[in-house]
Amino acid sequence: MAALLQQPSHFIKPEISNATHQVIPTSTNYSSSLFPSKPTKFTKIALKSSSPFRPPSQICNAHMPTNRFPDPDPAQAHDLPLRIAIVGFGNFGQFIAKAIRRQGHQVLATSRSDYSDYCAQHGIRFFRNVDEMCDERPDVVLVCSSILSTETVLRGIPMHKLSPDTIFADVLSVKQFPRNLLLEVLPPGFGIVCTHPMFGPESGKNGWSGLPFVYDKVRIAENTSQARKCEQFLSVFEQEGCRMVEMSCEEHDRHAAGSQFITHTIGRVLSHLDLESTPINTKGYETLLQLTENTVSDSFDLYYGLFMYNVNATEQIENLDRAFEAVKQKLFGRLHDLLRKQIVERVPLQGGPQMGPVRTKHADVAPSYVPSIEKASKANAAPSFLPDSEKMKALTSFAMPPPPQDSNNDESASQSKEESRKANRDTLWSQ
Ligand code: NAP
Repeated sequence: MAALLQQPSHFIKPEISNATHQVIPTSTNYSSSLFPSKPTKFTKIALKSSSPFRPPSQICNAHMPTNRFPDPDPAQAHDLPLRIAIVGFGNFGQFIAKAIRRQGHQVLATSRSDYSDYCAQHGIRFFRNVDEMCDERPDVVLVCSSILSTETVLRGIPMHKLSPDTIFADVLSVKQFPRNLLLEVLPPGFGIVCTHPMFGPESGKNGWSGLPFVYDKVRIAENTSQARKCEQFLSVFEQEGCRMVEMSCEEHDRHAAGSQFITHTIGRVLSHLDLESTPINTKGYETLLQLTENTVSDSFDLYYGLFMYNVNATEQIENLDRAFEAVKQKLFGRLHDLLRKQIVERVPLQGGPQMGPVRTKHADVAPSYVPSIEKASKANAAPSFLPDSEKMKALTSFAMPPPPQDSNNDESASQSKEESRKANRDTLWSQ
């Protein structure tokens, strides 16, 4: 497992499971130069019109009810921008819409909330109602809803209103779940391409160059206009500079649990520490601050989805827990050795006051442990990973010589001696 996690993704040969991929045979024959069966690259499709909007689709739909791009004239189809309908127009939906628009395609959007104002300002057609959006018969329906809501959202789409060769794509941060769901919910002719842009509005705000874009063409009819549109859709991300990684959904989820989910978990844990910038930040600490900020800018629904909908996440969180325990054991194992040394030798460590045990109000311990114990005391509760300070006191109190009596103590001791002598005298007189 460790070896697998260390291996960079571009060295891993994608393993495509036939059981989960459907290839739809087609009777239409095209020259292989036009439709290579296994394209390795998503070349940009030259768009004839500079306008991102193309003529209303209903015109060709009326004559070609099963295919919005008439197959006999594929050259025409090349030139048309895609009509891409985004379902779920939150943080990530809006982010991805910008790139789609930049690449000259038309964007339609629908969402639970009302984004009409935003869309009006950004040249996007917003539909309050998913039915109305489907009436527009988009080429691609791009699912950008939260992982948790995707099933409800998908089941609410009136599939019968869409063209029978519509492509469904998703951007969910887990992949096996939407793949299985899409295979179950969609009519058989619909194409399915599962994708995961491995970046978001924060990490991709300065461009997508070199950022990984994972995709799995789960069900795309070969040598058809559907295949062509799928290439066109993927070319959006290639043209934006993404590193295109074709990978099965299973493999994605294995890698993502060991990398993305761990990253989010560490970020979430750190966010509970309320870390603050200091005047002496190290580079490493800066990275942690950045990680925390990036992580909490994503919704908790997203993080919960990474856990709940990835079968590998539980194992990873348990690994993380064990790793943290192992580190604590290593630290406290040393502390234990140090205390034992003090107990057995009954002398302070050599090396002068800096090296010797330091007296705190809790215990006599080596200097390096003092700050955390003092801090814990201030907070009035020891952090759970520190040994109970009372136990430490018990361990160390008899290891040290008795504390020297100070002058006040001497005074009170002689006072009490004088009192006892007086008491004895009084007793004698009264007898
Ligand atoms: P998110 O919290 O995962 O999803 C927010 C979206 O889900 C919004 O469009 C929201 O609609 C919709 N939604 C939430 N609950 C809903 C419900 N009960 N019914 C209907 N719609 C609901 O945040 P996000 O960052 O925008 O992510 C969207 C998708 O992109 C997720 O699947 C995520 O895994 C994926 N993704 C995100 C990133 C990233 O960095 N953020 C990167 C790659 C992939 P309203 O806004 O209309 O309420």
